[in-house]
Parts: sequence; structure tokens; C-alpha cells
Amino acid sequence: MPRMTSTQARHTRRAVLQAAVDASAECASVGPDLFFREDGEPYIEWQARRAEAVRVCVGCPARAACTELALRDGDGRPDRDDMVRAGLTGPELAALRDRQAVRLAAATAVDRDTEGQELDRLVAELRSEAITSPDSGRYGKVRNTAPRTAAQNAVLRTLAARISTIRTGRRARAGWGVAA
Ligand code: SF4
Repeated sequence: MPRMTSTQARHTRRAVLQAAVDASAECASVGPDLFFREDGEPYIEWQARRAEAVRVCVGCPARAACTELALRDGDGRPDRDDMVRAGLTGPELAALRDRQAVRLAAATAVDRDTEGQELDRLVAELRSEAITSPDSGRYGKVRNTAPRTAAQNAVLRTLAARISTIRTGRRARAGWGVAA
């Protein structure tokens, strides 16, 4: 089997991290509310919830991957104690990001480059799919057209959603906001 080069490995790193979190995140069964302070929530109540969130993360098998993704995503602010991710508060994440700034700058540059390639591929796939007849044989050969059209529409919706997710993330990171 051909071995992956170190450059290829770096370019697939983010996807590997995300897959690890998707596969075994403890918070998937707990729900996101535990991890975020509500508007106006008294500090004493948030403190108790925050400790509980940290306890969940400490036992999470995806914690290492989650930490790396949180750092690459730029989560956490030094002046806002309102969240927990990977067992760290916002200020703790911000401090860790500062300490690893050089390494993270290189890692996120590679992430974005990889993301751009993925975006190009998805857009090309969407265009190709959009001009393909549902009767092309790709969606089976049943006589009734409706199921084939429904299957193709589902594929188109999935592709469009993935494109939208990537574009929204890139715009947010660039400071353009959702509407840009
Ligand atoms: S470390 Fe915490 S926030 Fe991260 S995936 Fe696990 S439970 Fe969720």
C-alpha cells in the first residue's frame, strides 16, 4: 500500500481530528447547554455547571482531538468565562492558544488550504450532479421517476449543505459575518 507523505498527513489532520470527536464525544449524549453560560446566569450557578462540564470532558476519549480543534477554531476569549470546551474554560483556551501561537498559525493555514480544495471539489460535484438526469442510471432503474428524482434531490441538498457549512466557517473566520 502506498504510504502517505508527511505533507499529505498534515493536510488530512483536521478531518482526522473531527472524525475522532464525532466518533466518541461524551458531550454528544449530554447536550451542548451544559457547556455554555446562559445570558445573565449568576456566576455561582455557572461555576457549578462549569465544574460539571469539565468533569464530562476529563472522562472523554476524544479530549485530545477536541483540544486541538478548539485551538485551531480560535475558541475562548481571555476576558470571557462563559464556555467549556475540551475541559478548558474560555480564558484557559485563550492562554493555551497564545502559548502555541506559532504552531497553530501553521496548522490553521494548512486547514484552510485543505478546506479550499474540499470546497472546490464539492462545488464541481454539485454542478455536475445538477446537470445529470435522474434517469441516467445512477439512481437505479425502477420505472417510476419519482424515487430517482427524490434520491438525486437528497444528494444535491447534502452537497449544498456541506458547501454552505464550509463557506460560513470561512466567512466567519475572515470577519465577514454570516450575511456576507
Ligand atoms: S472533550 Fe468535552 S467538549 Fe470535547 S468532545 Fe469531549 S466532552 Fe465534548
